[in-house]
Parts: sequence; C-alpha cells; structure tokens
Amino acid sequence: MDLSNYVGGAWRRPSSTNAAQVINPATSESIANVPMSTATDVDAAVAAATAAYPAWRRTPPGERIQYLFAFKQALEDNIKELSRTITMECGKTLAEAEGELRRGIENVEVACGIPTMMQGAILEDISRGIDEILIRQPVGVVAIITPFNFPGMIPLWFLPYAIACGNTSIVKPSEKTPVTMAKVFELLQATKLPAGVVNLVHGGREAVDALCDHPGIRAVSFVGSSPVARHVYSRAAASGKRVQCQGGAKNPTIVLPDADMEMTTKIVADSAFGCAGQRCLATSVAIAVGDAANTFPELISDAAASRKVGNGLDAGIEMGPVITAESKKRIEGILASAERAGVKTRVGGINAKVPTGGNFIAPTVLEDIRPDAEIARTEVFGPVLSLIRVQTIDDAIDYVNKSAYGNMACLFTRDGLAARRFRYEAIVGNIGINVGVAAPMAYFPFSGWKESFFGDLHAQGRDAIDFYTEKKVVVERWPSEWSRKF
Ligand code: NAD
Repeated sequence: MDLSNYVGGAWRRPSSTNAAQVINPATSESIANVPMSTATDVDAAVAAATAAYPAWRRTPPGERIQYLFAFKQALEDNIKELSRTITMECGKTLAEAEGELRRGIENVEVACGIPTMMQGAILEDISRGIDEILIRQPVGVVAIITPFNFPGMIPLWFLPYAIACGNTSIVKPSEKTPVTMAKVFELLQATKLPAGVVNLVHGGREAVDALCDHPGIRAVSFVGSSPVARHVYSRAAASGKRVQCQGGAKNPTIVLPDADMEMTTKIVADSAFGCAGQRCLATSVAIAVGDAANTFPELISDAAASRKVGNGLDAGIEMGPVITAESKKRIEGILASAERAGVKTRVGGINAKVPTGGNFIAPTVLEDIRPDAEIARTEVFGPVLSLIRVQTIDDAIDYVNKSAYGNMACLFTRDGLAARRFRYEAIVGNIGINVGVAAPMAYFPFSGWKESFFGDLHAQGRDAIDFYTEKKVVVERWPSEWSRKF
C-alpha cells in the first residue's frame, strides 16, 4: 500500500518520490510505504487550508459540529478495523488499541460542545452606556504533529477542537505509524467536510521543519520526545506562532507500606508493561518505601514474569513488541550499560526468552538502583521497571521532584494525609492516587510540566479551546439618550 497526502479534499501523491517503509513490529513485514513530504508539499497543504479558512470560519458552530457527530459515528462503526490497523503498525494489543481509540473518540464528543464552550463574555456599563464584549475567534491554519505510540488517539487530542473552533488544519502523523491516520482521514472525507478544512501530510523532519517555518500557519500542536518538542517549540515560536509541545517522561510510582499490595501490583504492572512501556504515562520507576520493600519487589517481579508476550493480534497476548528494531537495540543498550553499572536484573532483561520475528523485549524488573543512577533518570520507553528502595516518603518525594521530567507521578497508599501531601508537593502535571496511568479525561487538560511540556495551554478540553481561539475585546458605545452624551 502506497500512502498519499490528503490535500484540499483529494488524495495526492507528494512531490518527492522519497518514501519509507511502515513495518509491523510483531512480524517485521512491510505493510505500507509512507511518502516523505517536502516543503513543497507543505506549501500545497497550507494553500488548501488557507483557501478553505474564510468559509469555514463563517460556518456557524452548530453547523460545524454536525460533521463531528458524523465523524464520531464513523469512528464507532469502524473501531474494530481501526484497532487492527493500530495493532499492526504500532504493536500494542487489540484491547489496548481499542482503548486508545475510545479515548480519542471522547475528544470528538467534548468538541461537540463548542457552541457553549466557545462563548465569550460581555459586561454592560463598564462606564455609563458603554459595554465591553469578549469574542473568541479561530486562529486560522493550524498544524498538528504527532508521535508513533498513539496513532489514533493523539491526533484526536487536537483535531476535533481545531475543527469545532473554525480553524483549518494540517496533520503530520508519525512516519512510523501513519496508516491509522490515513484511514481516519478516509472517514473524515466521508463526512463531506468542505475541501481543505482538514489536510494530511506524511513525512518526517523536513515536513515538520517546513510546518514550523511556514508563515501561513498560525499555531502548532506537537507531541513527541523532549528534544524534538524543544526544537519544534523554539523553531515555531521564532516565526511568531502559538505553540504547545508535549514531550517525554520518566514517571515514578511510590508504594507506601500500607498500600493494598495485590491491587497495587496489578495496577503498577499494567502501567509499566502495558503498550510495552511505550506510553508517556508508563510507570518506569517504582519506589518502595520502608517495609513495602519486603513484599512489593517480589510481587511485581512475578507479575512481570507471567505476562504473555507476542503478536497483539493473537488472543491472550498481554504485551506486544516495541516499535522498531532500532528501538529494541537502543533499549538493550540501556539494559547492558545498567548491568555494567552494577544494576541487578530481577526478571526479563537482555537474555530472557522472547518470541522471534519481531521487536520483542521481555517485561523487565531491575533492582538495587540508586536514585541518581543513569537508568533512574533516562526515559527508556520500553517494558522496563526500575525498583528503588527508600526509607521515608520524604526521600520518595525528593526523588520525584529532582527529575528533569514532570509528566506523571503516582502514589499507592491507604493514608489520605500522605496522599494529600504528595498531591500538594509533587512537581508534576498529572498525579495518580492508587491509579497507575493518570490520563486526564477529554474534558480536562492533559497536563505535563518541566521537560515534559513546552508552552502554557495543554491538549484537550478548555485548554484546547483557548489554544485554538484568539480573544478579541470590543468596547462599544451607541450615542443616544441610552448612552453617555459628550
Ligand atoms: P519523536 O519525537 O521521535 O517524533 C515525534 C514527531 O516528530 C514525529 O511526527 C516525527 O516525524 C517528528 N520528528 C522526529 N524527529 C524530528 C526532528 N529531528 N525534527 C523535526 N521533527 C522530528 O517521538 P516518537 O518516538 O514518535 O514518540 C515517543 C516520544 O513521545 C516519547 O518520548 C514519549 O514520552 C513522547 N510522548 C509524549 C506524550 C505526552 O503527552 N507528553 C504522549 C505520547 C508520547
């Protein structure tokens, strides 16, 4: 299958013949060719989005959301096929794929509330007979650049709100997992959204840099690794754009001795090994406080060892492969250097038996890790959990707050006071209390602090509406007996 760009309501071959293969990470088979678009292709998409903008902006919000209702129905009707596509290009299990689509669809539902959520404000008589009005207007043409790990959900953190607010958009999905968005755009095309309101440009670095630089684009939304997030943030801001960039993570989970160990183990295992650890909200460090270290390490190691690894399309499989052969090699390199630094592998690791033919890594638990060790600080983005033991909750919170990242931190306890203190003191954007993947619902912002986020307004909900609208303030006087006379 050769993928094409979707520009101005039609599928178009990009200007360059450069293409990359999309590889099924469970089988190493090629499933598609993805074009590597150039600045010329970005120009064409910006031209189409710019041409569509004036009429789309004038389309009443109540009419704009009719397309989103149709889009939601199409996503529901095709959820099984889309899940299969996600599993085949991304490697996660079918249940995980359907779960991510569900979270994506929730954003379409929330964006349908735009006739209420996009309302402004008015104050009569700021002075006698003079009124002041705040109006929200769309920003114009916006770009949405996304990573490989949630090819269905992450574009939907942005696109429904951009459409609902009256903007026209260009989506640039990950070149590693582009097939899902190609299928989603077929569904968008079937809703008969006017040509140019949504556009799809495939590619990598060249397309991203062209989107950052293009003077016709007013705002850029990005999700990916922290170094690229920082690059996109500074490059797009340098040309005067509004930018929001969500970056990488190193998420710690603290286990207090009073936690329900059985429940905690199950939830932490799902967080660390679900989606093969390739979630920006995956737990990758578990900190056992005091006596929790007597039981938790063994329980979590058993949970890791019993996880069924294989092709996510097969029944009973609980964990798929990592995304590419290079990714597997990179993770194995991190594990090898941790071993050289004296870290002990409790289960899994480089020499564990895994299925052949794909990029499989065994669920791995490492122990005896110092809080300042390399493995305790670096984002692994694979099924690897590092265990740290500390004596007090103060030591644990200290570790959390020393991290360069601030995406998520979790606490497992029965003690409300400890939970409140943790919630209050952790320098982190998303907090889980007895929850392992604290993913905000679509009507809350998807937070993230420090190196995990560059910008001020986050994805989803009201933040998305603030991001995709400009505020205009009108001060209005009508001279008559009703107004102030001069
Ligand atoms: P990535 O940074 O490699 O790629 C993200 C996007 O940037 C892709 O569209 C890619 O084509 C583009 N890109 C890659 N290198 C580039 C470069 N040098 N210049 C310009 N553009 C470039 O990320 P990934 O590997 O696809 O995704 C995994 C990362 O994303 C992890 O670090 C993960 O933590 C992070 N992530 C964060 C969140 C969040 O909400 N904070 C959510 C999901 C994933």
